[in-house]
Amino acid sequence: MLSFDAEGRLLTWFSPPFAPGTLYKRALDSRLLGRRQHGGQRRRWQANEAEQERVFAALLGAAAQAQADLASPLLDRVLAWTPARLRAEQERFAAAYAPVSILPPDQYFAVVVQATRGCSWNRCTFCTFYRDRPFSVQTPSDFAAHLRAVADLLGEGARLRRSLFLADGNALMLSNGKLLPLIAQARAAFPGREVHGFLDVFTGSRKSVADWQELREAGVRRVYLGLETGHDPLLAWLDKPGSAAQATTLIHDLKAAGLNVAPIFMTGVGGQTYAAAHLADTRRLLERLPLGVGDLVYLSPFVPHGDYAARARDSGVLPLTPAEREAQAEALRGFLRAHKPGVQAARYDIEEFMY
Ligand code: SF4
Repeated sequence: MLSFDAEGRLLTWFSPPFAPGTLYKRALDSRLLGRRQHGGQRRRWQANEAEQERVFAALLGAAAQAQADLASPLLDRVLAWTPARLRAEQERFAAAYAPVSILPPDQYFAVVVQATRGCSWNRCTFCTFYRDRPFSVQTPSDFAAHLRAVADLLGEGARLRRSLFLADGNALMLSNGKLLPLIAQARAAFPGREVHGFLDVFTGSRKSVADWQELREAGVRRVYLGLETGHDPLLAWLDKPGSAAQATTLIHDLKAAGLNVAPIFMTGVGGQTYAAAHLADTRRLLERLPLGVGDLVYLSPFVPHGDYAARARDSGVLPLTPAEREAQAEALRGFLRAHKPGVQAARYDIEEFMY
């Protein structure tokens, strides 16, 4: 089973004849991610050049064979994407974007626009998403050029992408004076789409309910917040500013402004040392949050990155086993089912990310 965007570029290929049971997904820069169940485990990998070449060549062969039967103008679009042309998408992507480091899973098919680059904090021990770039804000003219390059890259494929995601790390932290013109530019370039974005508690707390209402009127609908844990000592140990009390106030403000929220928690973070307090305080925080229909709680299985492993070693923090981490996630899902009816809980697996 194959899927394509409206330009005819490969999106996914499930179970090609040479790799039964494998799912290949093509990112906009033509990286190919493979996924397969193996011995009850999910295995993921990024295809190397030879594997990428093999998939793209086989794809062209399969499309040519289907075209012999179907004579479809849609397949003509697929056939126009030779392996060399598909590979060259990497350069077009690099001309349009700084690397898109991460998105919430329900936004993989957004139109991503980078109003800012990097993260204004960039120092959480576990996070390496934006270590490759300093924080910067796009000027209106640079942003206009970026939007043109994104529109050019996506082409007709933009029709599949029904929302706008304001990147990078915490773009929504910008003052409304800077943010509103950028949102207006993005919505003019990609009309009819709701706007979503990441926010951190310590930067978001600077805005008032009136500021958030202004953003809602400008098209913002859902705010994704990396809360990570409800246990303040763990947050401090991770070098992430903010607190459960600040998160509660901020989410009350966002809800009062009519916005939906998606708080993100990391299951397994802080290992054995913090497990009991992380779970108990995260439950307590969830209990206090005014979540309802339209809100989403993400539970992200923690994967150590950056300086986390060294800090854990120095502090004698032992990791949870995968089963213990799953049990923590299940405990939080169960809590949400029992106490927050209508709130969706979903897994946020950062290793599945692609754009
Ligand atoms: S977790 Fe969020 S605030 Fe911390 S460095 Fe990463 S992007 Fe920045």
